[in-house]
Amino acid sequence: MRALQMVDTKTQYVHIKDEVDQAVLDVMNSSAFINGPAVRDFAAQLATYLSVKHVIPCANGTDALQIALMALDLQPGDEVITPSFTYIATTEVIALLRLKPVFVEVDPQFFCMDPVALEKAITKKTRAIVPVHLYGHAAPMQEILAIAERFGIAVIEDNAQAIGCDYFFDNGQKKKTGTMGAIGCTSFYPSKNLGAFGDGGALFTNDDALAARIQMIANHGQSKRYYHDVVGCNSRLDTIQAAILNIKLKRLDQYNAARQAAADFYDRAFAECPSLITPQKASYCSHVYHQYTLRVTNGRRDALAEFLAARSIPSMIYYPVPGHRQKMFAAFQTEAGSLPVTDLLTEQVISLPIHTELDQEQLSCIVAGVLDFFKS
Ligand SMILES: *Cc1c(COP(=O)(O)O)cnc(C)c1O
Repeated sequence: MRALQMVDTKTQYVHIKDEVDQAVLDVMNSSAFINGPAVRDFAAQLATYLSVKHVIPCANGTDALQIALMALDLQPGDEVITPSFTYIATTEVIALLRLKPVFVEVDPQFFCMDPVALEKAITKKTRAIVPVHLYGHAAPMQEILAIAERFGIAVIEDNAQAIGCDYFFDNGQKKKTGTMGAIGCTSFYPSKNLGAFGDGGALFTNDDALAARIQMIANHGQSKRYYHDVVGCNSRLDTIQAAILNIKLKRLDQYNAARQAAADFYDRAFAECPSLITPQKASYCSHVYHQYTLRVTNGRRDALAEFLAARSIPSMIYYPVPGHRQKMFAAFQTEAGSLPVTDLLTEQVISLPIHTELDQEQLSCIVAGVLDFFKS
């Protein structure tokens, strides 16, 4: 059996090696390393895939979030509402820009922003809402967008973990996550559902003015060559990464289907296991399983992780410390005990290997490990 890994980018590469190697060689031979044709081509292909008007590539997902906030032209101290239960990048950029992160609760079923908590957290200073489509499951965007619209607040979606996920509105409309708010952000970090062979990211928007502003900010605030209108940054997707992403984008639906098949297998295997809650999926969306995250409800989560490790079955805790308990946010101290669901999930969650290359033997081995622990 192939060694178990949280994500197996090597085996995935082997399946597309000829095509990828040729694409990389082509870029090297062209020496169009910066903003080469593959970058524009990839942006256009991704815009078509997502049915969104503008895709602006950038250097990584964290930059995408930072640029999105910069594009909204906020003032120091303005409040940005975001879940505490997310990867640090979501919340870090808020503080980096001297804005105030306001941490809200997630719901315990889908691990995403709780709209009731969101509405309660809105003040006169709230300028943006950043929901996260965590683990590949969409946040409840219909409710979030309705609240945001009522209060006139911009929504920036952190779609780093959910590219390809579908959202179904009550009126029958279907949209991809990342294309519903004012701006969507994603990451092409190698382990993401659409991963490059290095860093990469992108922003999505249907708003022409915002797209122009984002483009300008990502390129030193430049309006025309050597004329800089606003303070920006330097954030580009390099051509080699874009060439590789073009090849992988064609397979994204197939890759997400492979993740869903692995998740289905786990779901069935763990359905009767007491003390385990399998990941739930809302009827309003699909799930692209960036992570397969269980809740261990008998207090033995860490013991399970150790038991699995002893059998060479990897697992991860995403994330062991929620935002509101990170030292970097000490200045924004949320009241102790005010995010009980987030604190509880932090103690209960464990993610199992999930990726596009898991075979039956590997899945069975992982399942046996987990079930044996609960028998022991
Ligand atoms: C990966 C990730 C990011 C940041 O992406 P990078 O490309 O690593 O900068 C942001 N938010 C979430 C939820 C992520 O999972």
